[in-house]
Amino acid sequence: MSNAFTWVFLAALAAASATRLWLTLRQIRHVRAHRAAVPGMFAETIPLSAHQKAADYTMAKARLGIVDTVLDVAILLALTLGGGLQWLADGWARAFSVESLWHGTAVILSVFLLKGVLGLPLDLYRIFVVEERFGFNRITPGLYVIDLFKHLLVGAVLGIPLLLVVLWLMQAAGALWWLYAWIVLVAYSLFLQMIYPAVVMPLFNKFSPLADPVLAARVEELLRRTGFRSRGLYVMDGSKRSSHGNAFFTGFGGAKRIVLFDTLVSRLQPAEVEAVLAHELGHYKLHHVVKGMALSWAFSFALLFALGVLTGKPWFYEGLGVASATPAMALLLFMLVIGEFTFFLQPLLSLFSRKNEYEADRYAAQYASPAELARALVKLYQDNSATLTPDPLHSAYYDSHPPAAMRIARLRTT
Ligand SMILES: [Zn+2]
Repeated sequence: MSNAFTWVFLAALAAASATRLWLTLRQIRHVRAHRAAVPGMFAETIPLSAHQKAADYTMAKARLGIVDTVLDVAILLALTLGGGLQWLADGWARAFSVESLWHGTAVILSVFLLKGVLGLPLDLYRIFVVEERFGFNRITPGLYVIDLFKHLLVGAVLGIPLLLVVLWLMQAAGALWWLYAWIVLVAYSLFLQMIYPAVVMPLFNKFSPLADPVLAARVEELLRRTGFRSRGLYVMDGSKRSSHGNAFFTGFGGAKRIVLFDTLVSRLQPAEVEAVLAHELGHYKLHHVVKGMALSWAFSFALLFALGVLTGKPWFYEGLGVASATPAMALLLFMLVIGEFTFFLQPLLSLFSRKNEYEADRYAAQYASPAELARALVKLYQDNSATLTPDPLHSAYYDSHPPAAMRIARLRTT
């Protein structure tokens, strides 16, 4: 079973996968070629051993990325042209009527579970072998298992109702179902952002008020300078899982909370934490958060419109190896293959994100010390073993943050 669309799909899959592999190989080659010496501008601050660790860590992650790409292609082909989806649909047809919401839900959930199970070995290898080897892993096997079940539970509680509503709209709401589904999706994403910090995040981490009085005073002063209203300053026990550090805030309006990873607080000096936080405040003040949300809504609008068109086209199902043309199957096929078609938009998204990072850096340089931010960035890149010498093309394609050297060079001129 194949048609012209089969070849379009295979061409997109081949082009996207080849590009992924090519960029990864470039990254490995580039990092290896620059492994022997610390780049000039970091020669004073970063020891050779740390630079080489970052190179080895970057290459190890890139190699995992290759396995991941190949595995994804194999799973996608087995599910679609290999007949896996049709086999699942036939199997569930013995338990539920093919027309029912339950049949569609069962097929979709079993595919998600299957993909999760097949991806598990690689995830375990990544955490307990690669992250462990480089000294970043803090999670115990016990906590990993508990996390896994919590994620499953949260995913089911939050995801299944949404899935049922969308499938129901597809069946019952007529030609404009995709528009209603989009409205539901936007409303649901706002709802999730509201409950996430208060309901979901505490399931995984502990949040305690910032105890360090020196740092707290600095942060209060920064908030006053920038006119940022927040409801409290918290430290999160991120070190329970990993030694990578971060800072972020959650919530809307006056209910925003600022959250610092404990790893960040323990590694950076108060003035450096202040500068990092000023950068995060910059994202908020410059409306990057709202712009990002608007962008993702516009994107999902276009995607749902496309899906609305495709559900009525028999060639879409046939071309992807499926005989049963149900709404659930259309949704599932779309979710599985869309990434191969949108992959070529990635550089644009990365560019948008890096532009925001520079803007937030500039904001931070106004309200805090640019020199402290530069110092903090060097420490963060070093602690995370982020490579200082990425392949320029790989970086342009994927990186949401500009390379350290470029950020610091700009901070020095502000
Ligand atoms: Zn940022």
